Amino acid sequence: MITDGEQRRSSFVSFVGDKIPGFKVMHITKLNPRAMDILKTNKVQLTYARAVVSEPLRDSVIAADEFAKARKYSRRPFKVTLPAPYLVMWESWHSIHSRDAYPTPEEFGHAYAKLLRKEVARLKEAGVSFIQLDEPMLGDLTEAGDKPDRYRSVFKELYGQKYRGFREELKLAVELLNEVTVGVTGVRIGVHMDRWPNKDSPYFNVGYERFLPELLETKTKQFVLEYTTAGTGDPTKLIDEFPSDLEIGLGVISVQNYEVETPEEVVSRVERITGHIEPERIWLNPDCGFAPGMFRTFPREVAFAKLKSMTAAAEVLRKKYA
Ligand SMILES: [Zn+2]
Repeated sequence: MITDGEQRRSSFVSFVGDKIPGFKVMHITKLNPRAMDILKTNKVQLTYARAVVSEPLRDSVIAADEFAKARKYSRRPFKVTLPAPYLVMWESWHSIHSRDAYPTPEEFGHAYAKLLRKEVARLKEAGVSFIQLDEPMLGDLTEAGDKPDRYRSVFKELYGQKYRGFREELKLAVELLNEVTVGVTGVRIGVHMDRWPNKDSPYFNVGYERFLPELLETKTKQFVLEYTTAGTGDPTKLIDEFPSDLEIGLGVISVQNYEVETPEEVVSRVERITGHIEPERIWLNPDCGFAPGMFRTFPREVAFAKLKSMTAAAEVLRKKYA
């Protein structure tokens, strides 16, 4: 299954500000003049152009236009990715700039979820096979406990948001996701999370299993998860708890380095979980996106070589486990 690589987006979150009326795109130092210091102290990189909600949102196409353009190049099944509501709530609600439109971040999160649900319907109608809701902000919560993780600490200082505590954050993320996906049929829905383990953290070597059991309340067909980075944890701890119809999109390709994995390496990454879940419920994917951003380029030929290794590994695995 292919995607358009998000090549038309200004950034993977703030492009919604280019699309949906109600956002204004602001430089990060306008949110807080100390922004650069705050990022540095917390060892966090954020795109400097920030989409901040400033007026009530109005419905608008978010990605259906991108799909229409990409469709011209291939009739194969397509995946389209969309920023999930809990992520956008944290990234776009500012205590000064957003309060008149939405008094609380939660109210904004619910409003965005409502619009996203409409976009899901448009994408399904257009013939998209797989809609992936990107929830890195939830993934980063693996590093939080009594205290927030470093991303939520930054958003507190930059945006004036408050950490609700680990279980409350998790519940809110799942609730917002479900407002988008509950009852949607006829298109495969996936939820993607990132995991960037921090060596100094007490949660190094612990993974998304921290989100059990609440995570399994999410109305989704598949979890698309990063798993190649050291310290991400053991995927079987999560997968062993999956209900019988839930799929795993297993991250088997690193997007953080330019070393091209061999098909054999990819096969061995997948074989960490075979025996724990039926082969048909395992999808292979890169950990995250290859799209270049403010802080890195990603050579196209390296991305292509990595994807070729992944599809070669998939062929080997299909034969072996058929
Ligand atoms: Zn990601």
